[in-house]
Amino acid sequence: MEADLQGWRLSPSAVRVIPGEAVRKGEAQGNHYFHDLYNVIATDLKAGHSSYWGLEGREHTAQVSQRQREWREWRFRFEQDDQEKLAEYAADLRASGESEQFLPAMFCSPTMELGVDISALNAVYLRNVPPTPANYAQRAGRAGRSGQAAVIVTYCAAQSPHDQYFFERRSEMVAGVVRPPALDITNEELVRSHLHAVWLAEAKVALSPDIPEILDLKRADYPLKQEIHDVINRAMLVSMTRLPMKRVLDQILASTEGRKPVWMGEPDDFVSDVAQRAPQEFDRAFDRWRELYNSARTQLMEANARSEITGLSGADRRRIKAAQMQASDQITILEQGKASNGSDFYSYRYLATEGFLPGYNFPRLPLYAFIPGEGKTGSFLQRARFLAISEFGPRSLIYHEGRAYRVMKAKLPPEVRTGDGSELATRDIFICSNCGACHDGEVERCHACNTAMAGEVPVQRTLRIDNVEAAQRWCMDPLSTVWR
Ligand SMILES: [Zn+2]
Repeated sequence: MEADLQGWRLSPSAVRVIPGEAVRKGEAQGNHYFHDLYNVIATDLKAGHSSYWGLEGREHTAQVSQRQREWREWRFRFEQDDQEKLAEYAADLRASGESEQFLPAMFCSPTMELGVDISALNAVYLRNVPPTPANYAQRAGRAGRSGQAAVIVTYCAAQSPHDQYFFERRSEMVAGVVRPPALDITNEELVRSHLHAVWLAEAKVALSPDIPEILDLKRADYPLKQEIHDVINRAMLVSMTRLPMKRVLDQILASTEGRKPVWMGEPDDFVSDVAQRAPQEFDRAFDRWRELYNSARTQLMEANARSEITGLSGADRRRIKAAQMQASDQITILEQGKASNGSDFYSYRYLATEGFLPGYNFPRLPLYAFIPGEGKTGSFLQRARFLAISEFGPRSLIYHEGRAYRVMKAKLPPEVRTGDGSELATRDIFICSNCGACHDGEVERCHACNTAMAGEVPVQRTLRIDNVEAAQRWCMDPLSTVWR
């Protein structure tokens, strides 16, 4: 039970379970599968064992470090050479809390779809229908290599239109046509980010993997370091970069037989505009990092200040200590962008996630949640915006590495607090009742569908939230949830 919720628990000995009338008459019409499942477990437990205990499962996703993913592949395969490698790295594994035993089950995201070859894999369970037959072939094809038999089970969720569509048309997925991947090469954000990459190369700034080497952390608001600022703001850089950028744009336009995308005016003007705005966009791309860093520093300073107070109880001291550790943990993660362990804060990767440079990240601009590390280092989890709106909502449960965490806090940038810090600078938004488009202020007509908006009632006191922080489910955070 959560500490802030009232509840009662029935003593099991006070409850009597009696078979219903249908059972007594032998007419029970239940779900046979679950009926048998519970009976088998009950019989097993009575006999002092259960096949559902002692089965270790681990995650193999982009949220787990590359190194750890490799260890888990060895543990999962567990062939002669895997066991030798596990023995060789035994000390590293132990230090990271990873066992060196055989791993019978792995829970995978699409990281497993590519490249990883496990010949002994004999069962794949897909928790949803994959997006296309190509993904299905990739994922299902992980099992039953070299002519071995394998079983592949695909779960079709009742609430998912996609899953239900293919449940009705199974052969379209299992034996469907694998189409070559398609993408809109004239997508505005794609074009801009590629031009930015050309611009950054021409500017000849070699960025350090660590963001603290790029920003000046000694000054307020963490501006770009003077030397980087000077290089990217050279007056001649705009004219220098225009030609190489135009060359890339011409290549893109050539592939569409010169048809200009609707969002673009004159190609030359577009290139100049991107070149002129690039320094500003580059600077702005670091705003999220600044916000996360600032919030961690504020948390650390507040915890330090509280620890100075005399006469604190033991419980208070432990809470303050935990807050201090979490804050310095976050600072460490944000400061170290080593490319080797696939850190989200490796400068180039970070710039791609923020949409400034081209990257693997579609959709870009994910939301972050900080997960505390219970003795080990914590981590930042990323979710696409459309998923984060429900998964990172207040009090939502997040599952990570075999534990459940609850979203407890929103990480707010300092500017959303009003003068004395006691109130939030919320604002009202207006939603078109015809199409659902959102407007920051009162307007006469909807910007999307042109319906008259007079008399619409605003949604009051809204606040945009980009980052949240989770606490482990059974330990409550001393600070209150802030959410409007
Ligand atoms: Zn509308």
